[in-house]
Amino acid sequence: MNARRGEVRVFVAVGANLGDRERAFDFALARFAASAGVRVVRRSTWIETEPVGGPVGQPRFLNGVVELGTTLDVRAFFALLQAIEFQAGRDRSRSVRHGPRELDLDLLLFGDLEIDEPDLTVPHPRMGEREFVLGPLAELEPDLARSRRRLSSRVDAR
Ligand code: ADP
Ligand code: MG
Repeated sequence: MNARRGEVRVFVAVGANLGDRERAFDFALARFAASAGVRVVRRSTWIETEPVGGPVGQPRFLNGVVELGTTLDVRAFFALLQAIEFQAGRDRSRSVRHGPRELDLDLLLFGDLEIDEPDLTVPHPRMGEREFVLGPLAELEPDLARSRRRLSSRVDAR
């Protein structure tokens, strides 16, 4: 649905808990829209969530999911995500896993591509256990969110 010929359908999770979170999300959407080979299809509503993991007492997150179409390959698309995070003020040198950040862009799904490399795993391995991802994804694609949730609980059962 919504995919144009030659385009891969992509879902990206956005998160932020430092600075002006909505402004960072607007910035990301504007950068996507301005990037050759990338088309913003739609986005979920932004939801406010309690931090999961990371340092105690860090601020609440704003989270959402964006659907895009792209003619880029997965590596070029991932490089774009990292460039946008960087431009939004994220400093990887002081980054703590699951810690505070101005903008976090996680690649959830890239068509039906499966990739497992040291710096990039798609589908995103933890999406099925993160309610702050599954909720917004369900708003866009209920069936997709349901199947990811099921896949993850099957893994947990082992
Ligand atoms: P997290 O998003 O899990 O809180 P980070 O944003 O700091 O943590 O990302 C940690 C690393 O995850 C990044 O350096 C990136 O290379 C890697 N990574 C692996 N797969 C993905 C993916 N599908 N989307 C985004 N980052 C990924
Ligand atoms: Mg990330």
